[in-house]
Amino acid sequence: MSPSAAAAIVADTNPVATPPRPPSPVNKFGTLAVHAGSPHDPSTGAVIEPISLSTTFAQTAVGKPVGAFEYSRSSNPNRENFETAVAALEHARYALAFSSGSATTATILQSLAAGSHVISVSDVYGGTHRYFTQVAKAHGVRVTFTPEIEVDVSEHITPDTRLIWIETPSNPTLRLVDIRAVVDVAHRHGVLVVVDNTFLSPYVQNPLDLGADIVVHSVTKYINGHSDVVMGVAAFNADALKDRLGFLQNAIGAVPSAFDSWLAHRGLKTLHLRAREASTNAMAVATALEADPNVISVNYPGLDSHPHRAIALKQHRNGMGGGMLSFRIKGGHAAAERFCQETRIFTLAESLGGVESLVELPSSMTHAGIPRDQREAVGVFDDLVRVSCGVEDAEDLRNDVLRAVERAVGGQKNGNGSAQ
Ligand SMILES: *Cc1c(COP(=O)(O)O)cnc(C)c1O
Repeated sequence: MSPSAAAAIVADTNPVATPPRPPSPVNKFGTLAVHAGSPHDPSTGAVIEPISLSTTFAQTAVGKPVGAFEYSRSSNPNRENFETAVAALEHARYALAFSSGSATTATILQSLAAGSHVISVSDVYGGTHRYFTQVAKAHGVRVTFTPEIEVDVSEHITPDTRLIWIETPSNPTLRLVDIRAVVDVAHRHGVLVVVDNTFLSPYVQNPLDLGADIVVHSVTKYINGHSDVVMGVAAFNADALKDRLGFLQNAIGAVPSAFDSWLAHRGLKTLHLRAREASTNAMAVATALEADPNVISVNYPGLDSHPHRAIALKQHRNGMGGGMLSFRIKGGHAAAERFCQETRIFTLAESLGGVESLVELPSSMTHAGIPRDQREAVGVFDDLVRVSCGVEDAEDLRNDVLRAVERAVGGQKNGNGSAQ
């Protein structure tokens, strides 16, 4: 592509010349993923941006930096290009990157005054739950959890409520929340809505289009997509949020390195390809598991049997289910544990959203810290297995899980399938 053609497509992405602006509506997701925030290097013509490791930037006179940058914690070229790209994909005016998804959450919570009240869905990400209950409390921020937020959110709103925190789909049971329904109630009371969109990525769902005020991601998962960077990002439209969160990004300093920003930006350029493939693969695996007599139930928003399928059809691109699913296996915890050891392509590991497929046992791993009764109340039983589908071939993934179910459950029946 000629430089001028590229400039026409991404006229708003030169970080030195212009502040972030909404993407041109003529450009579709894949085009933005590849080109937004990716200007050619003006001095060499390099098509791929260099990694800018310098921590400081020369000034021609006191307070007059040569370009747009002064000191790398405050802002640097790689981070700014990544932020521009995420803003384009989430249909946001602004995005701010942080050193992890957790640091993103922490910075947003730190923006609240002491005495503020937050309402959160119950089955929120474990680290978010930990921050809400063990850290925010120390700063005088109180959090109420509710399992049915669309139903009772208005009952929980008080004059001190400042924020509602939604995760959809939830982890690990893949329940969905109708974002628009919660936003309608929240905005009537002047309360902001944050959506953690990590599980779907901006390719499948754009919460700001549904009225949310802030969308957050653990970039560690789908956006980077290669299981080699820990990072987070928040995107939003309001100037007031840009001022406040931008101030805290610099003041707290939980920022990603230039190298991680560059890697995550490289990963983001193929997000649409990976998210599509992962979703196709998850659908194949979920369908096969649902038909298996050794499986009790499957949680996957792409299946017609999912209790919130109507929300998926309304709120996800083409009604896609995303790459994550969970299922209950017959034979209890022992069978679930054996399953995780019997897969050959799926690796037993925490995390999700990478090109490689993973399995894990929430009751013993990601959700082990939650007391059993609370865990089971939201569907996290000992026999629940969580699956992150990568971009391998669907047929191989399907065969791998069916074989592992057979060996895990069959092994228990004749007593020779003991876990190694
Ligand atoms: C992993 C994850 C986080 C935390 O992100 P880190 O990058 O690990 O700090 C937050 N929310 C969800 C849904 C996650 O999966």
